[in-house]
Amino acid sequence: MEIKTFGVIGAGQMGNGIAQVAAASGLQVLMSDIKEEYTQKGLANITRNLDRSVSKGKLESARRGAILDRIRTTTSLQDMAAADFVVEAAVEREDLKFKIFRDLDAICPPGTILSTNTSSIPIGRIASQTRRPAQVIGMHFMNPVPVMKLVEVIRGLTTSEQTFKTTWDLCLKFNKTPAEANDFPGFIANRILMPMINEAIFCLYQSVGKAEDIDTVMRLGMNHPMGPLALADLIGLDTCLAIMETLYDGFKDSKYRPCPLLRKYVEAGWLGKKTGRGFYTY
Ligand code: NAD
Repeated sequence: MEIKTFGVIGAGQMGNGIAQVAAASGLQVLMSDIKEEYTQKGLANITRNLDRSVSKGKLESARRGAILDRIRTTTSLQDMAAADFVVEAAVEREDLKFKIFRDLDAICPPGTILSTNTSSIPIGRIASQTRRPAQVIGMHFMNPVPVMKLVEVIRGLTTSEQTFKTTWDLCLKFNKTPAEANDFPGFIANRILMPMINEAIFCLYQSVGKAEDIDTVMRLGMNHPMGPLALADLIGLDTCLAIMETLYDGFKDSKYRPCPLLRKYVEAGWLGKKTGRGFYTY
């Protein structure tokens, strides 16, 4: 199936990154959010990223213009009727994603594949909201999207082979390396990463170490490019908490209980880099 128009739901840090790589691969992109202010912020971020690449000599300015020309923005989900493939990258809330998928199912033509960038919510649960469960799949990009090579492609129980192949091929077109995962809470990436981050937060909570020292141990001792607390701030503490809740609810295993300190920060609106305050101040 040939994909020409690529829809992105949510223009936040993941959505605008996904829109950028899709447009760079030559697709026409339609990026939506609930307010124009958010789509414009997403577009400004893409422009800033591309400008940085031009100034570093990594991108020709004519190509920068062509990429931006391929991105349109909208605040109306109805416009997704024109999309051949959609990736949903709205906030990590099950009720919200369920509604978006029910709406997309009604709006998009029957052939359109509906994918989700969810970090942890089972694909089967999202697929069952639609009348096209064979065309629902997980397409999990990493943050920051233009930089990170991996895309985790998650098959739901009902995902068809054709949907899987189209999604896999799209990752290759985006110059990414796909890895296949089956449908369990957190898939592979966050099943492993998020309990490690949660444990780092427990270390802070129990005063085993200060934030800087916890991160230094993991960077220099384990050769991680970023410490777990800095990474949590980059991901967004609301997203981290939502993933831990999904793991905990899905497996009913106490090892996935979110650290109370993580919840406390989220309740205070300390969501990390995006709000200027998390484990660090930005
Ligand atoms: P974000 O908060 O930066 O952006 C989410 C955007 O979705 C916001 O702009 C919000 O206005 C928009 N939105 C909310 N409701 C919407 C709706 N009904 N229709 C359209 N847009 C809507 O969050 P993010 O970090 O970009 O995360 C988005 C998704 O990607 C989540 O499911 C998250 O779990 C997943 N994800 C995040 C990361 C990460 O590192 N942050 C990595 C991989 C996957």
